[in-house]
Amino acid sequence: MVLADLGRKLNSALSQLNRAPVVDEKVLDALLKEICAALLESDVNVKLVSSLRQKVKAKAKAAFEAGADKGKEANRRNVVHKAIFDELVQLVDPGVEPYKPKKGQPNVIMAVGLQGNGKTTTCTKLAAYYQRRGFKSCIVCADTFRAGAFDQTRQSASKAKVSFFGSYTETDPVAIASQGVTKFKKERFEVIIVDTSGRHRQESELFQEMVQIGEAVKPDMTVLVLDASIGQAAEAQSRAFKESSDFGAIIVTKMDGHAKGGGAISAVAATKTPIIFLGVGEHLADLDKFSPQPFISKLLGMGDVQGLMEHMQDVAMQNPEKQKEMAKKFEEGKLSIRDWKEQVQNVMSMGPISKIASMIPGLPAEMLEGSDEDGARRLKRMVFITDSMTAQELDSDGSLFMQVGKDGKPTGLTWRVMRVAKGSGTSVREVEELLCQYRMMAHMAKQAGGKKGWLQAAQKMQ
Ligand code: GDP
Repeated sequence: MVLADLGRKLNSALSQLNRAPVVDEKVLDALLKEICAALLESDVNVKLVSSLRQKVKAKAKAAFEAGADKGKEANRRNVVHKAIFDELVQLVDPGVEPYKPKKGQPNVIMAVGLQGNGKTTTCTKLAAYYQRRGFKSCIVCADTFRAGAFDQTRQSASKAKVSFFGSYTETDPVAIASQGVTKFKKERFEVIIVDTSGRHRQESELFQEMVQIGEAVKPDMTVLVLDASIGQAAEAQSRAFKESSDFGAIIVTKMDGHAKGGGAISAVAATKTPIIFLGVGEHLADLDKFSPQPFISKLLGMGDVQGLMEHMQDVAMQNPEKQKEMAKKFEEGKLSIRDWKEQVQNVMSMGPISKIASMIPGLPAEMLEGSDEDGARRLKRMVFITDSMTAQELDSDGSLFMQVGKDGKPTGLTWRVMRVAKGSGTSVREVEELLCQYRMMAHMAKQAGGKKGWLQAAQKMQ
């Protein structure tokens, strides 16, 4: 998972809060000390961290002093938990909405950034991302400075089955950019990504070239590509670019395995520019959509329903009818165990399990431990369990497995649980766990579909 280390430290601090018998100022101070240390280690700016500490303290103290929560430790815990969650979201939220490409019209996206930041890789990932969502997408390689830039675009775009344009002979990047964009506009492409150079003999020439390309292609959105490893220096780099190309969004790359990623994201947020994606690996699919709330939710091990739905849509795009059916079920909150099974299977086919599993709310932490193979094995075991269910059980909402008393409250499990455990060679506990996860997911889907805050649902589940 992105920023796994930071997530682990924040989680461990919060679990101490859950264990504390009394929640008072002392406990709050100790908790904040740990959280702030974890953030600083991730290279988040000292000022931002100290402001977070003060705000959480002020919110918690106000609630404690109001007296309403006196003695009610669970309430106090919730107040603190929510304050920390909200302030972490603030830390990565620039509060600005990015441009959203529209169907049925050309959307020109220009990518800028220093060489080596992952710009060319990101352009292909981005084109593939929009293509998967039904946008006719393409790339124009306007980097004439770096030898081999066009070959790199050609290779990666062909692999991604995305159209591309460039030249081995033309040396004027502005001419290539406008030729490419004009050609693709004529051919009714909807997402046209212009990859620019990331280096020049003189820095001022690079910035000048970006201004000229910008004037020639009139981008709907300019995206700055930044490398996460620079940590909070991301702020200075983005300010330097801002002077020449007024970019409207940022993509932070190499978030996989860079401990300083938290610093980069918060620094960027401080410049009030929206981060739209995170690059999380070298492969085509290693591009995660970024939104502040789901990002923090995932970081704290609370899942990321939005991200999960995105992934599901990716898979479902190959079968639009199925997608419609699924979207309807999500909206109505009517996911059956069979749907859950299908989703888990789809998700398993979509890439490293560690990445996907962290999006599933309520998945026990041990599910994410160990290697990807271990994780995949555990998820497969869950699918085995569903293989032992009857059609009626699969199409149900899980209530067949519960005994209920006269008051409608669950009193225990039915014989079906025993049968499924026996049939799948697992234990009753494992079947119970699966049912619990299915219920949690169905509940979250309902919350999300019903446009209520799924986040509150996630928090209540904790
Ligand atoms: P450019 O010079 O900015 O166009 O950078 P490239 O796209 O050529 O990327 C430079 C290097 O970074 C390549 O080896 C890429 O595979 C790698 N890279 C790009 N994005 C990511 C990412 O999100 N994660 C990791 N681990 N590597 C990346």
